Amino acid sequence: MSAREVESIFADIVERARASDPTNARKWFDDLRVIRFDGGSIGIACPDEASVRFLEQNCKGNFTRIAQQITGHLVSVDFLLSNGDSSRPIEALSPGPALHTDYTFDNFVVGPSNRLAHASCVAVSQSLGTTYNPLFLYGNAGLGKTHLLHAVCHEIRRRPGGAAIQLLSCEEFVNRFIRAIEQGNLGVFHSQFRTVDALVIDDVQFLREREQSQEEFFHTFNAIYNNGRQIILSADSPPAEIPSLEDRLVSRFNWGLVARIDSPTYETRIAIVQKKAHLRGLEVNDEIAEYIARQVHANIRELEGALTTIYALATTTHEPVTLELAQRALEGQIRLATRRIGILDIVEVVAKHFNVRLTDLQSKRRSQSITAPRQICMYLARLLTKLSLEEIGGHLGGRDHTTVLHACTKIAEEKEADPKMNALLTELARQITQTFLI
Ligand code: ADP
Ligand code: MG
Repeated sequence: MSAREVESIFADIVERARASDPTNARKWFDDLRVIRFDGGSIGIACPDEASVRFLEQNCKGNFTRIAQQITGHLVSVDFLLSNGDSSRPIEALSPGPALHTDYTFDNFVVGPSNRLAHASCVAVSQSLGTTYNPLFLYGNAGLGKTHLLHAVCHEIRRRPGGAAIQLLSCEEFVNRFIRAIEQGNLGVFHSQFRTVDALVIDDVQFLREREQSQEEFFHTFNAIYNNGRQIILSADSPPAEIPSLEDRLVSRFNWGLVARIDSPTYETRIAIVQKKAHLRGLEVNDEIAEYIARQVHANIRELEGALTTIYALATTTHEPVTLELAQRALEGQIRLATRRIGILDIVEVVAKHFNVRLTDLQSKRRSQSITAPRQICMYLARLLTKLSLEEIGGHLGGRDHTTVLHACTKIAEEKEADPKMNALLTELARQITQTFLI
């Protein structure tokens, strides 16, 4: 919907409100401006606090009823304090969720790690509610989930038809829900969320251990889904692995398409560094892009961070950006990061992978089911920490250094001989290091 259409709808609302409430209109309705219209709610700016208080208390119901009649939607009305800048054009006051301008499909580098997620987002943005519903994206932090959700919304907004979108973090959804309960206006809350064409909620793992919010989410989901409207969700893990998420939500989240985003490959990382540099008007040559891509593996936000660090150093020292400078800039951070990996980080990942108990790996038990994962822990500890053989042995069942050395040699040989073992060790190392590497 264009700014002019929003203004015109708003003028109709005020005109009708004046007619139905002439006494209050004379004193309170003159200086109102529309500053938000996102399909679910209308934000009206008032000149001062007193007006906000008065209008919220005495005129909200009337305005809401009229707004609903005029728009034909169950919209809510909020009176807000104006920031005083009455010259601000309504275009600048986003009619809809605020979208990150860089987070578009054009700026998203597609590679094997995110191809499915990207393709499904493109498909959904082209035909809401019909291809994959819900669409559920998951992956570790910093791999582009939020970017893709914003890209879908940019794309929907670009198309004619004025589809109403709600995009928000799950935390915000929960907070608004709690506020609605406190203020006794759940009806308004429902109308904001249950009448949209697309509901896009980021980081739904936030629902864990929030029973009441899960209940509300369940009903919101059903209302939107049953109306054939689109639902897009993201989380840091697949539905079934979100702790204490109710089964009925897990099953609904699995109804459509669940798309995983993995850590980017080396080639994708290079392309992302170049894309990000380009967006900021920086020049990176291939050598430096490749260097950054080699240093940072698992998190794209950190890839950008590395780029920033390098350019910050170049700016402060007035030096040209060379490979040597890039190395100097990142070196300290990487050393610091590697030092932070502790034996427990390794044991946790390995225990989870082999489905054994953490305490068993650290115990003296010698059954085969424990010995093999424990040897892998030893090998990885040798590789990723600065601990001595004695220290590693001490943490893993009180073994002496020859046992640890034997384990490391054995696993290294298996890695050479068996591509499966090689892949497993790479994956475990990736999981362990991803939160630590810059
Ligand atoms: P998440 O929500 O999964 O934690 P974000 O969407 O916030 O991750 O992404 C972190 C940063 O990485 C953002 O700046 C985003 O633009 C960038 N990013 C992630 N994936 C890509 C990609 N494939 N191409 C370009 N930039 C990406
Ligand atoms: Mg995110």
